[in-house]
Amino acid sequence: LVSRLPHVGTTVFTRMSQLAIDHGAVNLGQGFPDFACDPALVDLVTDAMRAGHNQYPPMTGLPALRQAIAAKIEATYGHRYDANTDITVTAGASQAIQSAILAVVHPGDEVIVIEPAYDCYAPAIALAGGVVVPVTMRLDADGYRVEWADVRAAVTPRTRMVVINTPHNPTGTILRQADLDALVAIVQDTQILVLSDEVYEHMVFDGEPHASVARHPALAERAFVVSSFGKTFHVTGWKIGYVAAPAALMVEFRKVHQYNVFCVNAPMQHAIAGYLQDPAPWRDLPAFYQAKRDLFRAGLAASRFTLLPSDGTYFQCVRYDAISDLSEAEFAEWLTREIKVAAIPVSAFYSQLKESHVVRFCFAKKDETLQLALERLAQL
Ligand code: PMP
Ligand code: GLN
Repeated sequence: LVSRLPHVGTTVFTRMSQLAIDHGAVNLGQGFPDFACDPALVDLVTDAMRAGHNQYPPMTGLPALRQAIAAKIEATYGHRYDANTDITVTAGASQAIQSAILAVVHPGDEVIVIEPAYDCYAPAIALAGGVVVPVTMRLDADGYRVEWADVRAAVTPRTRMVVINTPHNPTGTILRQADLDALVAIVQDTQILVLSDEVYEHMVFDGEPHASVARHPALAERAFVVSSFGKTFHVTGWKIGYVAAPAALMVEFRKVHQYNVFCVNAPMQHAIAGYLQDPAPWRDLPAFYQAKRDLFRAGLAASRFTLLPSDGTYFQCVRYDAISDLSEAEFAEWLTREIKVAAIPVSAFYSQLKESHVVRFCFAKKDETLQLALERLAQL
């Protein structure tokens, strides 16, 4: 059998979570909360099931949920998406991303991916027959940043799409207004599309706004904007999110979506449609995660780790040059086995091996979990 994805193995998240279990380590590797979601949200799901919402909902998503999403985006970013034509409910952001790529990338098309990059973009591009064109973020004492001149230099007549991700997994970097202006300057007057992965949209710290592509008409008119309720409502196991895009793009998206999952589970759509009526949960999220970020950073201050900035997401990247000269993969394994704290090597987020002596910790954990991890890490 000739593999469609010859270079793909089991994801680093699965491997590191298994290693954490095998060694009884505190798992700060794979990104997921270890605390419960709001019990009111669970009640809404069971209410929906008891009310009989257990058959196929519409292919595009429950109308009440699409309307609630459109209203939330308009209230937050000022852009009006049509709930009927511009929004589709998806089985997590992952399915939105894969279906969007399969819908518009043709064999031989180039897709610019900014690295380090979350691991689901490249396999989807490969399955579409596209070519990943990586652009590496610059890393210095101020952290990682996108050098837009490098993105511009990567554009060719075959460029179909640019994938951006803000707040950024794994680095915790955020794009700002000036970054999106630079992207506009690159794509305007071209046919290049944008895929904007904004699953951490409500985890931006220090009072900064989230620079959503939805705020920029010049980008929104050519963009798929993706988000995930798994992140915003602490329910990563529910696998429910959405994609918003102009109607012409959404027509193509839905052609793929209807044969990929057809639709997304009904009870959770009912529950989230109701839960979205109150903005408090996402309004309070930046402060909630900022407190965890600050706790985690303060706990590492006395160690020999060098903290990189974490302006958004629930991830903290650290350099470990002063502790070890192991490769990132080896260091993450050593931390898990010997120190009993699991982390993710950032080298896993590049298409070509790149070693920067950086690992990623997830701080979406109970304070006690973070304290336990810090007791172990602070000795290093
Ligand atoms: N994009 C990024 C940057 C992520 O970190 C994640 C979380 N795994 C996803 C997409 C996928 O989100 P979901 O779990 O909703 O599919
Ligand atoms: N987004 C999560 C992370 O970056 C992982 C989700 C997964 O395991 N695929 O850790």
